[in-house]
Amino acid sequence: MPVAVYPGSFDPIHLGHVDITRRAAQLFEHVYFAIYDRPNKHLLFPTEERMALAREALADLDNVTVVSYRELTVDLTKRLGADVIVRGLRAISDFEWELQLALTNRELAPDVEVVCLMTRIEFAFLSSTIVKEVASLNGDISHMVPPNVAVALRRRFN
Ligand code: ADP
Repeated sequence: MPVAVYPGSFDPIHLGHVDITRRAAQLFEHVYFAIYDRPNKHLLFPTEERMALAREALADLDNVTVVSYRELTVDLTKRLGADVIVRGLRAISDFEWELQLALTNRELAPDVEVVCLMTRIEFAFLSSTIVKEVASLNGDISHMVPPNVAVALRRRFN
């Protein structure tokens, strides 16, 4: 069975990410949940905290390992001996970006395959940006993130 890498910023991990990871863990022998150390965006949580939150949220998945990285995703994939990059798709707007990324990755590493899993409808509206926005305005985020992430967000914004 192939081994997969699920890369992203995960700032922070939310229930859409958890769902994609859970489903990938059933499809692949092992899943590396890979947190990109330096995305080109403003971060709320430093890498160590994003890792700790993800580890706790995914603790029940035996074949998932949380790692951080700062190289090309295809280089990480090869370094870990993985075969596949998993990404999640919410809407058509995601598709354009994911296609661009997948084609770039294929140029860089033709032997690494990209597999996109469709979101569940109840998570289709969810993004880390939305979660942070609602949390910053003291809104209820309990249906958007794992309990440990809700606690971390409340602590951050109070
Ligand atoms: P990035 O910064 O690489 O876009 P994110 O942390 O925002 O990373 O997301 C990581 C991956 O999870 C991406 O493939 C993204 O499309 C996917 N994803 C984000 N939110 C959802 C969701 N609600 N349902 C399914 N997939 C999602």
